[in-house]
Amino acid sequence: MRRRPTDPASRGLRLFVLVVIFGVALPSLLLTGFGLIAIGNERAAASQRLREMYTPLCRRLAARVSQALEQRAQVLRERLPLLLRWARREIPAPAEVADLESIGVIALVAFGEDGRRLLPRAERPVPTWQGFLPPEYEEGLRLEFAERDAAAAAQRYRAALAPYTPGPGRCPILSALARALWKAGDTAAAVATLEEATQRCADFVDPTGYHAGLGNLLFALEIAATPEQRARAAGALTRRLSQPLLVVAPGQARMTIRRAIAALGPAPEDDLRQVRSWLERLSSRERLAQALWQRPPPAAAAGFSSLLVEGTPRLLWIDDSGRTAAEWLPEAVEREILLPALAAEDAGAPLTLRLVHATATSADGGADPTSSAALSKDLRDWRVELRLADSGALDDLARSRTRLYLWALLLLVLVLAFGICWLVLITVREARLTRLKTDFVSSVSHELRTPLTSIRMFVDTLLLERTRDEAERREALTIIGAESERLTRLVERILDFARMEAGRRAYRFEPQSPRELVAAALDACRPLIEGQGFAVRQDIPADLPEIPADRDAIIEVLINLITNAIKYSPENRRVEVAARREGDAVLVSVRDFGIGIPGAEHGRIFEKFYRVDHPVTAAVGGSGLGLSLVRYIVSAHGGRITVESAPGQGSTFTVRLPLSRGEA
Ligand code: ADP
Repeated sequence: MRRRPTDPASRGLRLFVLVVIFGVALPSLLLTGFGLIAIGNERAAASQRLREMYTPLCRRLAARVSQALEQRAQVLRERLPLLLRWARREIPAPAEVADLESIGVIALVAFGEDGRRLLPRAERPVPTWQGFLPPEYEEGLRLEFAERDAAAAAQRYRAALAPYTPGPGRCPILSALARALWKAGDTAAAVATLEEATQRCADFVDPTGYHAGLGNLLFALEIAATPEQRARAAGALTRRLSQPLLVVAPGQARMTIRRAIAALGPAPEDDLRQVRSWLERLSSRERLAQALWQRPPPAAAAGFSSLLVEGTPRLLWIDDSGRTAAEWLPEAVEREILLPALAAEDAGAPLTLRLVHATATSADGGADPTSSAALSKDLRDWRVELRLADSGALDDLARSRTRLYLWALLLLVLVLAFGICWLVLITVREARLTRLKTDFVSSVSHELRTPLTSIRMFVDTLLLERTRDEAERREALTIIGAESERLTRLVERILDFARMEAGRRAYRFEPQSPRELVAAALDACRPLIEGQGFAVRQDIPADLPEIPADRDAIIEVLINLITNAIKYSPENRRVEVAARREGDAVLVSVRDFGIGIPGAEHGRIFEKFYRVDHPVTAAVGGSGLGLSLVRYIVSAHGGRITVESAPGQGSTFTVRLPLSRGEA
């Protein structure tokens, strides 16, 4: 059946969709939005609280770093005149030369007033000991390079290391011996020789200006065979290279660093990786000098400042003349100043600290810092960043709150959806009931009008004395009586129903014989059965036990069922009434061979006012209350009513009544 768009079902659907959109979806979206904003606020508030908590500590640490760096600059300022005199070769190396490392200076670059570079100082070749080399050394050189006999050369070199060879004279021989031993395949002996050379000839510079001490360290790294040897050699080389005043030609320093980096390769070990990055840092010392000199130092540049060299900010101190610059490594400042300062504080939670330049973005350090504070005075370009080492704690807190909010939101949305569905269900049910009631009123009005019309008609006939004889008069009176009885029954039924719905119908339970009850019901229906020409078959055993029942009520049930069987069987006019015992109950069934009921309607026919949509139903009229009454009465007896039926196959209604009260 095609439904018009305005029929109640599609109206209901439309209502449902609207309610879902405005009652569930929109509020849910709004709630979710507000919830997410609340979560965001919660997180922001938590990090704000943390920031407030840690800002004083961060400020103290920043002040501590500023102070320590100022102190170091002060020490440097005091030592500088002596260092510059040494750089100009006016005095021998002062003790402070070695001590620069203790104040953490990684590079010291100085230029003279004439623009010539003074530091890092390059050593001038001093060929003092050339003539003192023993003849065995010359012989070894010949064997090694002309004869290409490394083993024999090594022997000669060993002989050359005779006790009489003077101190610095041993240095070139030791280097040559190590080289020959390595060429001869004796790496272990070569490494041992190099270690001896490192100890004795740390600052040895040969006549060509080549810093042999540094050369030996590099060679030891390049031929190192085991990871331990490699680590030891790399450590020694880096320590040497990091001395800010190392006297070595810039070209050799650069070459050494480059080869050392190559020798380390992509080292998997952590300490070697660190050495590598250290070396990379050092390799730019020369570039730092160039960058510094390219920039005319403004008068105000004196003091701490920072300089971007190849994109990396460098922490510099420039003296008042603007011609001397010292560099500190931020990493070293973290290690040497920040960490000890933190250890002296009672931080409460594990923290990580970093010294970063203003240009550094948080992305460099991962998550936003918990707190940060700028250093003081001319160090303001730099700041200390403090993070909770276990930054997950805040995330965990935020995450657990987020989860809580989300669950609460979900619950709210579910409750909302459930409530709305329930409301829609009730509304739809109410709407259906209203429609059924309307149908009921019209069909009951019709039911009332029919007997009333015939009563009036026959009353008029009698009043106007239109009857021809006594027989006709009696017939008219009989019809008036039957019709008013029908009216009474209808009104009774409606009243009954109202009473029953209000739970006010009282039952009088007494033992009743099912056989007798059926007989009484059939008697009551006799005029209808005979009038419509129905054949009734009974199958009721004589030995059925009695049941506790309200006689009138059960007879009413049976009359209803038999009347329906007759009403809804327009063609095959047969009714079968049967009863039998089954367990603790008696089953009474009324069977017809009429229009039947579709399976989908089986549940609904027992609802009040409900009538199946069928031409026969429409034609016979009715209130839709009969089966509803039947169900009320049967369940008041602790029984059950069931139906078996299919369209065109007839119907069987079965009433199950318990043998004793309180059982089904
Ligand atoms: P009504 O006054 O309409 O008969 P009932 O409550 O007795 O009200 O029955 C409800 C509906 O169930 C009927 O309108 C009819 O469509 C269907 N029905 C009841 N009994 C039968 C039956 N024996 N055969 C076919 N349909 C039936």
